[in-house]
Amino acid sequence: MPIRPLSTLLINQIAAGEVVERPANVAKELIENAIDAGATRIEVLVDGGGRERLRVIDDGCGIPVDELALAISPHATSKIDALEDLDAIATMGFRGEALASIGAVSRMILTSRTHDSNEGGRITVEGDHVEGPAPAGCPPGTTVDVHQLFARTPARRKFLKSDGAETRRVRELMLRLALSNPSIAFALVSGDRTLLDLSATTDPRRRVLDVLGGELDDQLIEVDCTDEEASIGIWGLVGRPAVARPTTRHLHLFLNGRPIVDRSLSHAIREAYRGLIDPGRTPTAVVFLELDPGRVDVNVHPTKTEVRLRDDRLVYSRLRHAIIDALSEHDLTAAVHVADPQDRSTPPAQREFGARRVAEPPLPLRPSGSKGFDARSAREAMDVPEAPAPSLLAVTGSIPVMQVHGSYIVAEDDDGVVIIDQHALHERIMFSTLLERVLEGPLDSQRLLAPAMVDADSEQLDGLERIGPLLAKLGIEAEAMGPAAVGIHAIPVLLLERKVDIVEFMAELLAKAGGGSLPPDEEAALQEVLDMMSCRAAVKAGEQLNESEMAELMRQRDLVERSSRCPHGRPTTLRLSLEDLEKQFGRR
Ligand code: ADP
Ligand code: MG
Repeated sequence: MPIRPLSTLLINQIAAGEVVERPANVAKELIENAIDAGATRIEVLVDGGGRERLRVIDDGCGIPVDELALAISPHATSKIDALEDLDAIATMGFRGEALASIGAVSRMILTSRTHDSNEGGRITVEGDHVEGPAPAGCPPGTTVDVHQLFARTPARRKFLKSDGAETRRVRELMLRLALSNPSIAFALVSGDRTLLDLSATTDPRRRVLDVLGGELDDQLIEVDCTDEEASIGIWGLVGRPAVARPTTRHLHLFLNGRPIVDRSLSHAIREAYRGLIDPGRTPTAVVFLELDPGRVDVNVHPTKTEVRLRDDRLVYSRLRHAIIDALSEHDLTAAVHVADPQDRSTPPAQREFGARRVAEPPLPLRPSGSKGFDARSAREAMDVPEAPAPSLLAVTGSIPVMQVHGSYIVAEDDDGVVIIDQHALHERIMFSTLLERVLEGPLDSQRLLAPAMVDADSEQLDGLERIGPLLAKLGIEAEAMGPAAVGIHAIPVLLLERKVDIVEFMAELLAKAGGGSLPPDEEAALQEVLDMMSCRAAVKAGEQLNESEMAELMRQRDLVERSSRCPHGRPTTLRLSLEDLEKQFGRR
């Protein structure tokens, strides 16, 4: 085939392939235009999941009749003028190709009226056929009415999911945009069903609750931090550990008002919850970052959901610390969930959050006879020797404590009874102590008489080189010895004292370093390794503790931040409140 220039229609259809994959993308482009136009209310109507018809109605500034034809032509925009503008984009759109692209893959009717004119105008685009502009009677604002999306590009149409699934995507997209635009009212109607109706509010917290669910009201902690020097602003609402979710659906990140997807920043948020939630779960968090627009390149992805940041490490670390600080101001000790004695019929089932109000972690005390946690079978499974009868009673300060089943410490505090997992708590304490120490300088280390040898493959040897500085901080001295082994010359005293199998420990560390599963951030990587060390060095379940050991654990517990969760995110401590006890025993 000879070389020929592409027709405008084909160019637009190809461009459409980049921005409009499905109805939700069309909705996104049109809603963003409405936001840019200063709308106070945006209504979206869909039929057949948006492929039959999708309408976006706004009350924004409108388009003058004589600019209608320009609005639908490719690379025509009112939002940027020069290349420099790209460095300081404040609007959602700027590429000037959305309307042209959508028109190329549908029949699109654009009706608009500016606030200072008595009459509006209408223009219709169908592929490369344009009709109008013609005068039209309409209220001020803009309506874009998209019919038969992808009718002429059947390949694309084939990839669409069911109507319901496409509608859900539109709804999710609207929720995201609604989070960052609380002052705009949003409505979504599918056929004759209203799926979304958010009224405008001046309170961003209100909007977050409207979107994520009002039952989160007492579960959200505010993060508010401005670093003038680095010109980074962070505001957000993050959930208590109990409302972390198995999916990422409740993690929303915004950069300068734009919803973004960013692995590194999401990681920063997760890292802030290290030790507070199970690593398989995702925190509930709605976080708005404000950065100098000159530091952000939004033009790396046609739909602008991915961005590139200058000095992303600084932003990573600020974000992580802002959330850690906010969380540390709250008591996050888990409560034992006790069923209401009035209603003993069924034990509370574990449900997705949102369905119930009870907040703290789903650890129902099950009625006896059901297949709940049973210490005896658990200890058998763990191969832990039977402990002597619970007898040790130590007194720490004024608080009596005792060890039960060789694994738990039971004590009293102001609000009730606390039950502590000795391994989890000790692990937590070690982790915090080590972290604090390592920030002051390398950990104390002990040279070995002869090097301990660990097998390693070439990736692991590369990994060893990469984590050299990290090892130095930890007081570990190790080097490649030959092509397939690492010799360990010195190890932290702590590991020696706690009789940790150093070869096993190093093998695990090398596997992580070689497999690239250590976090990229230096501090986060350090924490991960300290985490491994603490886990191995901590007292185990089934280890008898004497009075002074227990007393010491309890003393340190009070000193250590976040002692309510072990570094892995399992709780170290459960609290059974006096109030619950009284209820259970019918005293109130
Ligand atoms: P971009 O948003 O990148 O500028 P679009 O193709 O989405 O490109 O829109 C082209 C132009 O049409 C916009 O720059 C804007 O001037 C105008 N426009 C589009 N939608 C609206 C709207 N809902 N209200 C007012 N003006 C609009
Ligand atoms: Mg646009």
